[in-house]
Amino acid sequence: MKIAILPGDGIGPEIVDQAVNVLNVLGLKFEMETAAVGGAGYAAHGHPLPEATLKLAKEADAILFGAVGDFQYDSLERSLRPEQAILGLRKHLQLFANFRPAILYPELTGASTLKPEVVSGLDILIIRELNGDIYFGSPRGMREAPDGPFKGSREGFDTMRYSEPEIRRIAHVAFQAARKRDRRLTSVDKANVLETFQFWRDIMIDVHKEYPDVELDHMYVDNAAMQLVRAPKKFDVLVTGNMFGDILSDAAAMLTGSIGMLPSASLDANNKGLYEPSHGSAPDIAGKGIANPLATILSAAMMLRFTFNLGSEADRIETAVKKVLAQGLRTADIFEAGTTKVGTAEMGAAVVRALA
Ligand code: NAD
Repeated sequence: MKIAILPGDGIGPEIVDQAVNVLNVLGLKFEMETAAVGGAGYAAHGHPLPEATLKLAKEADAILFGAVGDFQYDSLERSLRPEQAILGLRKHLQLFANFRPAILYPELTGASTLKPEVVSGLDILIIRELNGDIYFGSPRGMREAPDGPFKGSREGFDTMRYSEPEIRRIAHVAFQAARKRDRRLTSVDKANVLETFQFWRDIMIDVHKEYPDVELDHMYVDNAAMQLVRAPKKFDVLVTGNMFGDILSDAAAMLTGSIGMLPSASLDANNKGLYEPSHGSAPDIAGKGIANPLATILSAAMMLRFTFNLGSEADRIETAVKKVLAQGLRTADIFEAGTTKVGTAEMGAAVVRALA
């Protein structure tokens, strides 16, 4: 069980340390190797995804990833910016299926900005296609507008596209995930305006024929955004494209109180995966020892479940996290009156203790 540890930038190293401590206390034999990525990769080797890091990621069974990004690198040309590392890993490793569960722990109901009756008991799963869509489509760039009312002016342009096999493979992943839950799948698209997403909807309907036991419905992305904050518990599993999923999953993150609570998994066709918290490198709090490590610890639990098929060990970690929350321990992002504020390392140590 070889794990590539890629802590990255900002709070990345602080939170990944805690997840590694948790993995080490389970009594399992992991081979772990650490490499620089993102801004740290650029600083050490002149590239956000250094060759040695990519090689390690390819050889490993799973990748535990912190976060990348730092404003000091914002002036670099785009291909050298830290965020290119995560896009590169997704592309090189064909990590096309992103799982983002949004679960509200009962102890954190008060940390959500939504009313308790709207969010209490929330347990939904967003599945986002990660390799296609407008983020990767070509042609793209800046040019002189070739037509339209602003012909001849400078314009920026990107290309939204999805091929049939890309939609089919994410559809199968989503239907299979729904089968393991409440058997309800909502496909989010913009079929009323975009050809790409009319095609997406047609393929979803076709793949559904193989999963008659799963209920499928379709929702336009603007309505989905509204329903996520109006009545999020109505959803079970949502599946959508790369850009819509990017936006909706961050909105779903806040339903749970803090983005610091949300794990994620990005899988290839063989369940090799990259596991990371849903948040970024949080440069505003980096180095202060106050970041919430729970999203990263819960991402490590997802790694055990999805890549290593160690469901009961994953359950153990999730139970330990619940226990620590029930003890009233809170990092600053989820702190409320009447609870005990702790730092990153203390929170990690408390999970380790709960596991022991
Ligand atoms: P962010 O997620 O880093 O931070 C947003 C807010 O949430 C900040 O106030 C931050 O302090 C807080 N926050 C995030 N994680 C937290 C945690 N674990 N505990 C407590 N509070 C937490 O998003 P941003 O500020 O938009 O971006 C910062 C950098 O991260 C940018 O360079 C961006 O490109 C990068 N980024 C990287 C990834 C990734 O590595 N996958 C994802 C998103 C953003």
